[in-house]
Amino acid sequence: MPEKNQVFKAEITGMTSEGNGVCRIDGMAVFVPETAVGDLCDIKIVKVLKSYAFGIVDRLIKPSTDRKEDNCPVYKKCGGCLFRHISYEAECRIKSSIVNDAFKRIGGISPVFEDLLSAEAVSSYRNKAQYPLAAVDGKAVCGFFAPRSHRLVPVTNCALQPPVFSSILEAILDYINEKKLTGYSEGTNTGIIRHIYLRRGAHSGEIMVCLVVRKDISRQLSALCRILAKRFSDIKSIVMNINPKKTNVILGDECTTLWGSDTITDTMCENTVRISPLSFYQVNTLQAERLYAKALEYAAPDKNDVIADLYCGAGTIGLSMAKQAARIIGVEIIPQAVENAKTNAELNNITNAEFFCGDAGEVFGKLRKQGCKPDIIVIDPPRKGCSSETIDVIAEAAPRKIVMISCNPATAARDAKLLSENGYSVKKVCGADLFPRTGHVECVVLLSKLQSQQHIEVELKTDELDLTSAESKATYDEIKDYIYKNSGLKVSSLNIAQVKQKYGFELRKNYYISKKENPRQPKCPKEKEEAIISALRYFQMV
Ligand code: SAH
Repeated sequence: MPEKNQVFKAEITGMTSEGNGVCRIDGMAVFVPETAVGDLCDIKIVKVLKSYAFGIVDRLIKPSTDRKEDNCPVYKKCGGCLFRHISYEAECRIKSSIVNDAFKRIGGISPVFEDLLSAEAVSSYRNKAQYPLAAVDGKAVCGFFAPRSHRLVPVTNCALQPPVFSSILEAILDYINEKKLTGYSEGTNTGIIRHIYLRRGAHSGEIMVCLVVRKDISRQLSALCRILAKRFSDIKSIVMNINPKKTNVILGDECTTLWGSDTITDTMCENTVRISPLSFYQVNTLQAERLYAKALEYAAPDKNDVIADLYCGAGTIGLSMAKQAARIIGVEIIPQAVENAKTNAELNNITNAEFFCGDAGEVFGKLRKQGCKPDIIVIDPPRKGCSSETIDVIAEAAPRKIVMISCNPATAARDAKLLSENGYSVKKVCGADLFPRTGHVECVVLLSKLQSQQHIEVELKTDELDLTSAESKATYDEIKDYIYKNSGLKVSSLNIAQVKQKYGFELRKNYYISKKENPRQPKCPKEKEEAIISALRYFQMV
């Protein structure tokens, strides 16, 4: 086993999603930052844990052919980009395997893996940047925090941002320093200006400047508004966002428009979209359009289909599908984004889309009770994925297809697995690179409902055949009635049979339920399982 400070010669054979190279030393996985697959190096061990270790490159003996020089002066310090030291082709190979491995390892599923949607533009592709401020030698500077720290690395010309952002930043910093407005410090909750937040429509070129401040300083900013508006004709909106809290959450709830419009306008999948500072909007517009096109290809709706777009943000995905479907129902938790979604539907003369505000699972659950029955559900949750309640309500709605979009392949694989245990088959997965040079990768997943034919057969047979003498105290219908009256839950014969099988009832030889380890029938949800067990107890069958 390797020990701290020992040096070993090894070849890097893999790469993690955190951008660390991996090699094996004495059978142990050792993670080495700033390396590339194929590097042969002397590695100095810096930390040894139970089943893995960390090392650094002591000497690069033979560099990998994936390596490439990069001229960004700050990427090693700011930590925003993980793959600047290798070619983009190598980065795409790594990202494909991150997506595919997540589904194989976490999801235990091997659907058809389609080729990663790689990007044409690997620089200046972002439409949004949020720069924290700090004071250095008495002057306000902006940049990015070094990874896992509050140490600011000054940057005004990040290679991933549109070049115009640097000139706007310089102009704002000059003003801040001239007026002696201070940068915010989270530690002491002092200082005024917390972040400079910029957005630019990739197609329209319209720019929004949002100054995130600790308290209302609108008067002190009026001259800045005049300077910016005069110098940068693409600036269409200047907003002040007040965030008084001692927190590392960037934006507060309150926005005041200081100059111009409350929103900027852009186009996304040929729809006109208006975006507020608080609304989510995919940061790489061109790649998001390709991602949405893939989602539309997977959804393949017909004119009669009702589509639910859960976690819809400003409605961009649902609206891109609206012309091909009967109805779109969007659900989103941020009120301003829901307002944007409604306006965006109007702006594009889309009259078959409705948007609701609230938690995706809760609101969709309520809509279900009112009779909403979508044929296709699109989900695009944040990094943590869907809650188990939301997965349950989606599975219960039993749409023909589910199209899942995710910026986190690990939680997407977890959620796809849960849905595959609830009557869905994971058909296709496609990675999409919306964040070139960084460690992030997006994916889109197609799930189809398993043939309902199988379920019908199961129900008939279980009801008819599974009445052994020991269990004949109550029929399936009596059990179902009892459960419905006591808990309001509707259980199927298949659910009852599955619970009986799980708890070891003797089953007949010709009993339909597969005894294989991973039968393709849906599993009984926990809530129903508990209700069935208490019914079986009531009828003294257990
Ligand atoms: N589909 C949109 C947004 C995806 S990002 C697009 O492509 O632009 C995820 C969205 O989920 C964000 O808008 C976020 O505000 C929203 N969200 C986060 N938690 C949520 C929840 N519990 N219920 C509903 N929406 C939620």
